[in-house]
Amino acid sequence: MSCQQHSLKTWNTFSLEACANKISMAESAEALCQFWQQSTDQNEPVLLLGEGSNVLFLDDFSGQVIINRIKSIRVSETTDAWSLHVGAGENWHQLVETSLEQGLSGLENLALIPGCAGSAPIQNIGAYGVELDRVCEYVDIVSLADGVQQRLTAAQCQFGYRDSIFKYQYRDGYAIIAVGLRLAKIWQPVLSYGDLRNLDPLTVTPREVFNAVCQMRRSKLPDPKMTGNAGSFFKNPLVSAEVAAKLQAEYPHIPQYPQINGDVNVKLAAGWLIDQCDLKGFHIGGAAVHAQQALVLINANEATGQDIVNLARSVRQRVAEKFNVWLEPEVRFIAAQGETDAVEVIA
Ligand SMILES: Cc1cc2nc3c(=O)[nH]c(=O)nc-3n(C[C@H](O)[C@H](O)[C@H](O)COP(=O)(O)OP(=O)(O)OC[C@H]3O[C@@H](n4cnc5c(N)ncnc54)[C@H](O)[C@@H]3O)c2cc1C
Repeated sequence: MSCQQHSLKTWNTFSLEACANKISMAESAEALCQFWQQSTDQNEPVLLLGEGSNVLFLDDFSGQVIINRIKSIRVSETTDAWSLHVGAGENWHQLVETSLEQGLSGLENLALIPGCAGSAPIQNIGAYGVELDRVCEYVDIVSLADGVQQRLTAAQCQFGYRDSIFKYQYRDGYAIIAVGLRLAKIWQPVLSYGDLRNLDPLTVTPREVFNAVCQMRRSKLPDPKMTGNAGSFFKNPLVSAEVAAKLQAEYPHIPQYPQINGDVNVKLAAGWLIDQCDLKGFHIGGAAVHAQQALVLINANEATGQDIVNLARSVRQRVAEKFNVWLEPEVRFIAAQGETDAVEVIA
């Protein structure tokens, strides 16, 4: 199906007014390839979207936006695990909820993250101590030029903190069409973050973790349906142990998260750094730093993409002046011809 409503306002959770030449819905890998071919023949750019919850439109998009709506969830089991083969266009939160209703646990910490299942591997979505790579077994992709499909194992996806191979080698000319998840039948709760620490590890159920995560997210994060935003605007910065020690000496309460897997770097909380610069509520044009959650930039009043960029630049500058740490956006910046380097734009 192809539609001629060109506004992207409902296709980006910032609710920015932007347009595309064309918006198409793809319900199969074949449709993705056909739409891609049309645009290639006309020499126009293509942008793949799931639910637009991690993009910032800097401008109108001068090409075709293809919305991935490949659906299907297939469940199979072995003695020790459930395997889920999930179409890329499935809504992530609904998947979490449905699997829980069917007695399959392991996704509950990732409840209420907006977007599609097929977008989840791209930045290795994470929340409350769990990242997608904990449960991801494989990702299926299609080469848009020739329709050839390929399965990448989790190791081949090169997952990292908000990172994967889909931001580099498989960014252009490929689409994710399905994700394979493996949920162990012996459930191990992850209760290391926030209010989850108050739950009793001996008696807690997956449903209780799910409810606690939903409750925390609803109380802390603005709902994009009410206030345009794309969640955490910046990544939590990783700094060397030496820099972390210096910051700790100067700011004894600074939150620091040492990394596992032999990584000597230390993760800082970007929201805390922004908050220490007294930036909650700070606004430029129609864009503002959320009054309760400093890491979230919002469309407070008919913001333009440029308002958000100006605000992000200012926030980044202020944090660097105070802490000598440069924040990098987590959100993907989309210019008229396609994705552009977000750090360069706000430098
Ligand atoms: C309120 C809110 C809270 C959030 N909380 C979290 C959180 O806790 N943790 C977290 O990790 N993220 C969070 N996010 C960010 C966002 O939800 C995730 O990044 C999500 O995975 C994006 O999914 P999407 O379908 O909306 O992707 P989109 O925004 O549509 O696309 C994101 C990028 O992926 C590309 N893309 C989309 N689909 C495909 C495909 N099928 N194949 C190839 N490329 C594709 C797009 O071109 C774009 O570059 C939050 C966002 C919001 C608005």
